Amino acid sequence: MSLLKIEGLVARHGLLTAVQGISLDIEQGETLALVGANGAGKTTLLRTLAGVHPVTGGRIVFDGVDVSALPAHHRVMAGLALVPEGRKLFPAMTVQENLLVALSAKREGNWNLGTVLEAFPQLKPKLKAAAGTLSGGQQQAVAIGRALMTNPRVLLLDEVSLGLSPLAVQGVYDSLNTLMGKGTAHGTTVVLVEQDLQRTFQVADRIVCMLEGKVVAIGRSDEMTREQVMAYYFGHRTPTSSLTSQPTGTT
Ligand code: ATP
Repeated sequence: MSLLKIEGLVARHGLLTAVQGISLDIEQGETLALVGANGAGKTTLLRTLAGVHPVTGGRIVFDGVDVSALPAHHRVMAGLALVPEGRKLFPAMTVQENLLVALSAKREGNWNLGTVLEAFPQLKPKLKAAAGTLSGGQQQAVAIGRALMTNPRVLLLDEVSLGLSPLAVQGVYDSLNTLMGKGTAHGTTVVLVEQDLQRTFQVADRIVCMLEGKVVAIGRSDEMTREQVMAYYFGHRTPTSSLTSQPTGTT
């Protein structure tokens, strides 16, 4: 059974249907990347999964339970955590306070203040600093650390490298590799949006190409080429044997 099953999901912004009947099965421990041009609906999909954007149609089934109507904080308690685009920290609160906020989810597991600081050692000397005074890379580490503190079974990562220097991006992904790594103690399932296609290929087990709110192709990252993904990205579909391409009218 899939850990996260998305069935005909629809999400709107007013009259605009940003997610148009998406269906996906996400397995325990896999890293799934959502790829698509600006406005393809990636952020709306992640926010809808996290419960911070309402479901208009379809279902989200998490570990066999329909969570479509659950409010966001209940989904966090169930084990779904979002690292939102733009981090959304409490800038006046200290790094430690930002991390400890996550304890309200009351989920037991390997992640706690100590293990998060092991994963992001750059935060150790910053624990008492106001989060708003940190560099972009450090703030991103706090945002990911805060999500990890909830001991998620599924981590939803929305463009964690946005606005960071190449060095900071490398630092964030070095830490993420530990939890994405197969066979580790944490073995977290990850759904991520990442604009850097090369990095997407490095970290993802499967890649989902989205166009105008629909899934147009799904494939294993080791069976897809950058050219194929770019063709789907721009809507120039190229049928291949290795990809599961999905007719845009039926997803
Ligand atoms: P990006 O890479 O730019 O973040 P995306 O693939 O994440 O793009 P979304 O941000 O989910 O796409 O946007 C999907 C569609 O919904 C777009 O047409 C966008 O203009 C629209 N949209 C997103 N947020 C809002 C909002 N708050 N109000 C109205 N329309 C919105």
